[in-house]
Amino acid sequence: MHVALVNVGDEILTGDTTNTNATWICARLNERGVDVERITVVPDRVGEIARVVNEYRVEYDAVIVTGGLGPTHDDMTMEAVAAAYGRDVESSEEALEWIVEEGGYARDDLTEGTSHIPAGARPLHNEVGVAPGCVVDDEVYVLPGVPAEMKGMFESIAAEFVGEDRYAETVPIDEPESALLDRIEELRERFDVGVGVYPGEYVRIKLTGTDIAAVESAAGWLRERVDVRVEETE
Ligand code: ATP
Ligand code: MG
Repeated sequence: MHVALVNVGDEILTGDTTNTNATWICARLNERGVDVERITVVPDRVGEIARVVNEYRVEYDAVIVTGGLGPTHDDMTMEAVAAAYGRDVESSEEALEWIVEEGGYARDDLTEGTSHIPAGARPLHNEVGVAPGCVVDDEVYVLPGVPAEMKGMFESIAAEFVGEDRYAETVPIDEPESALLDRIEELRERFDVGVGVYPGEYVRIKLTGTDIAAVESAAGWLRERVDVRVEETE
């Protein structure tokens, strides 16, 4: 399953907010064997959000959009996602009932627009905040921007994201990347596994694949041919 992620918010583009929602969602999807192939950050503008969602919904199996929910002036994600489908937003009676019954809010206290989702969409309840999310045509998932709200809502849809089980082994190495090139090349020729080389304070090589035996053999082969870093333990 191939997924694109769209994070909405001027505050991410100005550097005021770190896009931790993207990192968290990517890790959760990766655990489930689902490939994320795009992360796109867009400003709080209907046209920009709609254009990207419209493009990605055709290209990927699913699109996850975060941020810009709720009824305040800078929250335009629902309107934009509706526009991507050529639809209007409408008040979801199901979402409204849930907010009143489970959230404990009085109908009259809710700001106009709180329960607006694209016509025909399935509402997603917000266990942590107020504004509902939604799923349009089982392909575009709209979640809140506030991380705690986003995570709570993601759990309710996680099972809809399925992929092949994947295995990973990471080998920490005490040699510079430039010295490893020949061995990395040979590793890639010999084994049908993904090879990620991550330099940093020291080099880590991450081997991934759907065949556990192949991943383990590749890791064993590599460990025998490099100076494996002894991780400090306390
Ligand atoms: P609300 O309904 O409360 O308005 P929302 O879904 O509209 O929530 P936003 O207004 O987009 O969410 O963002 C609210 C806050 O959540 C931001 O000020 C920021 O602190 C945080 N936030 C938004 N997007 C992200 C993100 N991609 N990663 C981390 N934090 C985020
Ligand atoms: Mg908001």
